[in-house]
Amino acid sequence: MAVLYRKYRPQTFAEMIGQDNVVNALKKAISVGKSPHALLFVGPKGSGKTTTARILAKALNCLNVVDGDPCGKCDICEEIAKGAAVDVIEIDGASNRKIDDVREIRDKISLSPSKFKKKVYIIDEVHMLTKEAFNALLKTLEEPPSHAVFILCTTEPEKLPATIISRCQRFDFNLGRDEEIKQYLEQILTKEKVAFDSEAIAWVAEYAGGSFRDALSMAGQVAVFEKVTLEVVENTLGAGRSGEAKNFVAALFNGDREKAVGIITKLSEKGFDSGEFVKSTLLEVKQLLLAKINNPESGYLKDDIINVYNSLDKCFQRVKYSPVSELPLLLVIAEIIEMDETKIKRSAKEKAKIKTKEGNFRKVDNISEGKEVISPKVENQSSESETMLEEVKDNTVYDVVVVPAADGINELQTIYNNWKAILENLRTKNIYVTTILRGGKPTAFDGNKVSVEVYFKLHQDKLRETKILKLVESSMSEVLGKKVFLLVSVGKKEITPTSDLSIDNLVEAAGEIFGTSN
Ligand SMILES: [Zn+2]
Repeated sequence: MAVLYRKYRPQTFAEMIGQDNVVNALKKAISVGKSPHALLFVGPKGSGKTTTARILAKALNCLNVVDGDPCGKCDICEEIAKGAAVDVIEIDGASNRKIDDVREIRDKISLSPSKFKKKVYIIDEVHMLTKEAFNALLKTLEEPPSHAVFILCTTEPEKLPATIISRCQRFDFNLGRDEEIKQYLEQILTKEKVAFDSEAIAWVAEYAGGSFRDALSMAGQVAVFEKVTLEVVENTLGAGRSGEAKNFVAALFNGDREKAVGIITKLSEKGFDSGEFVKSTLLEVKQLLLAKINNPESGYLKDDIINVYNSLDKCFQRVKYSPVSELPLLLVIAEIIEMDETKIKRSAKEKAKIKTKEGNFRKVDNISEGKEVISPKVENQSSESETMLEEVKDNTVYDVVVVPAADGINELQTIYNNWKAILENLRTKNIYVTTILRGGKPTAFDGNKVSVEVYFKLHQDKLRETKILKLVESSMSEVLGKKVFLLVSVGKKEITPTSDLSIDNLVEAAGEIFGTSN
């Protein structure tokens, strides 16, 4: 399976597909003899960072470089390709993250390369290093001997100290485009003399999710067949990558328990790789999430997508160890569709709660209409409670779920009271940002700075963009009638039954997760 990957791993820049910007910049630097001493390769898994780093190591040492590209054939190139070159040192940041590991590099770095022109250090997953190790690395980067080149690779540049980043020249790697990956796979299968349906390859490319590495390893699995057809792909890559995974995910979203169970039963009878299947379902969810990000107004509710994702992600960990492979999947069905039931039960529960526990809610003004929504009035209008619920939820959700710091209660309440108006104001300016903010929650307000928690790094990054930040701050300031600033942090969505309200908390939170507006 990994054989194809090793066999066809690009050995020169010319063999690389995609990452044109990075490749061109590196070739140029090499051909004019101005390669930096420290490079930072940033990009998602499987986008070719390490492959590029190795090619660069060759280019720095190859005896027959042409236009900045190594020949791939000389002894040096071959030694590096085999991973046997003592002057090309690959370090996995995840397992060598301590200061002593970096010290070892420092101690040896002053020694000239034993054979090559340059000693090349490739540190993979460099963001995993400890703080002390970073400091040690920084010292090395500050005054590297002229024979040393550092290539730091990371999927999470935000975890790197700024001091490290500023010492490096940064190169950003993108995920492969489906079409690029397809082209790449077709080339390889042609070389392997394996017949294929273009449609089937397009499918593999799509499911590789932009990773050349994953695409190749999947291609390796289907390449043993006489011809790669849709059927072969479906049967080999996890019992119905497309069809059944898609159907299963749809059944989860639609709350169709019978169908979801039916799919799992059928697959387990046939004997299936549950890990691969769960991976396929996660890829489905990825597509749904991407569609949602691109068009927040369409598709399933964001919170539903997150919920299904969380459950399947947990399932992915479980299937690895479960002696009964379909069990974790059945658990997903129970979790997701059970919660949907909670939603149904919630109406009844909610009615009861409004009747009996309205004292647990703080009164919240309905800003837009200037009237109180939660009031004893509700109690007398149980026939209308379904419609009232919408408003109740909209206005009280933070009261129930968030427990503000004791000293900030009054100030934070101001934000709760105005939250809806802030969102409405913001909505006229930017719907997408409003959606992000709606998914988060205000956690503190000191009269000047509003702290908001969101649940995705992605959302935090977005809200911290200068333009967006200003936009949100202006909406808040307009509504609150004074200048305020926004602080965004990433929080964990927690449902913690701590008080005597625990059941209600859960019900409320379940309602929040599924929304009442779908
Ligand atoms: Zn060479």
